[in-house]
Amino acid sequence: MELTLGAPARFAQRLTAKYKLTLPIDVRAILERYSDVVEAVIPIKGVDGVCLNLKVPGKRPRVVINSSNPPLRRRFTEAHELGHIVIPWHKGTIVDHLDPEHVEWSDDYWVFEEEANQFAAELLMPSSWMLDLLESTPDPSKAHKQTCEQCNVSALAASKRLSSLLPKNMVFVCEKDGEVEFSGKTNGTLANTPFWKTTFDADSFTYATQHFISSIGARRLHWWTLPDKVNEVSNDPRSWRAILDAIVEDIGVPVDDQKRFKASVNGVLAAANSAVRQRGSHTAASVVAACMQRFHDRDDLRSFAEHPNFMDFVVKRASELTQ
Ligand SMILES: [Zn+2]
Repeated sequence: MELTLGAPARFAQRLTAKYKLTLPIDVRAILERYSDVVEAVIPIKGVDGVCLNLKVPGKRPRVVINSSNPPLRRRFTEAHELGHIVIPWHKGTIVDHLDPEHVEWSDDYWVFEEEANQFAAELLMPSSWMLDLLESTPDPSKAHKQTCEQCNVSALAASKRLSSLLPKNMVFVCEKDGEVEFSGKTNGTLANTPFWKTTFDADSFTYATQHFISSIGARRLHWWTLPDKVNEVSNDPRSWRAILDAIVEDIGVPVDDQKRFKASVNGVLAAANSAVRQRGSHTAASVVAACMQRFHDRDDLRSFAEHPNFMDFVVKRASELTQ
C-alpha cells in the first residue's frame, strides 16, 4: 500500500529522520529543542494548549500545555504544538482547542488545526510503521492495541489513525464499563456507529462478517468488518411490494402509520442505492450490502430489518434498481 502524504506529514517525517527518532517518540524532548515549554492549569474550558511567538523574529516560541488534561492527551497536544512550530506558515499565537465543539473560529484556524493534527499523527504514529503493522496484523483490534502500546498514544488517537488507513466497511467501538466510550468507522463506510456515552450493545452489528476484540486496561476494543457485497437470492414468489406490505403487518405498524413507515423504508433504500451508484460499483450484491448497513443502524426500522423476509424484500428491490 502506498500513501500520498500531505505537507504536514512530510515535515514530521523530516524531523523523525533528522533526529533519528524511534518509537515511542520522545515528543517533549524535541518540543523543548524548539521552544520553552511550561505546564499550567489553563482555566478556560476546552483549551488544550497555547503556542506563542510563532515565527516572530528574535523570539523563541513558547508553549503552554494544559496540565489538567490526562498524560496521553498532553502528549498529543505537545506533538500538535510542535507541528505549529515546524510548519512554516503557522504564525503568531494559536490557542488550541482540540475539541471543535468549544469554538467557532475562522476557516483558516481549522486548516491550521487540521495540519497540526496531521503532523502530530505522523510524528507519533509514523505511516511506514502503521502500514507494516497493518500488513502483519490482520486483526484490527490487535493493531489498535499495538498502536496504543508501542506509540504511547490514547485509544482515541490510535483509532483515528487506523480509521484513516484501513479500507471501507469497518466500524469500531471502544467499550469501557459497559458504555460506548467512543466509536467510529473507516472512510467510505455507510453504517452509522453507536452514539458515544450510550450503553454498549454487543449485537450492534449482527450482520458483520467478522468481529474482533482486544482488551487494553479497562477498555475493550471492538472492530467489525461489514459485508461489501451480499450475494443472496430470493425464492419468494411475491413481489417486493407484497413482501413489504406483509412485513409491515407482521411487525404491527399501526394502520395510520403504515404509509409513513413505508416511505421511510423507501427513503433508506434510495439513499443506500445512490451511495452505491456514486461509488461506481452498482450491482445488486453491493446494493444489498449497503441496505444492511443503512437499515440496521436505524432504531425505528430495527424490527423491520430483523424480519425473516427482510432479505427477500431487499434482494428484490436491489435487483430491480440495478437492472
Ligand atoms: Zn493547534
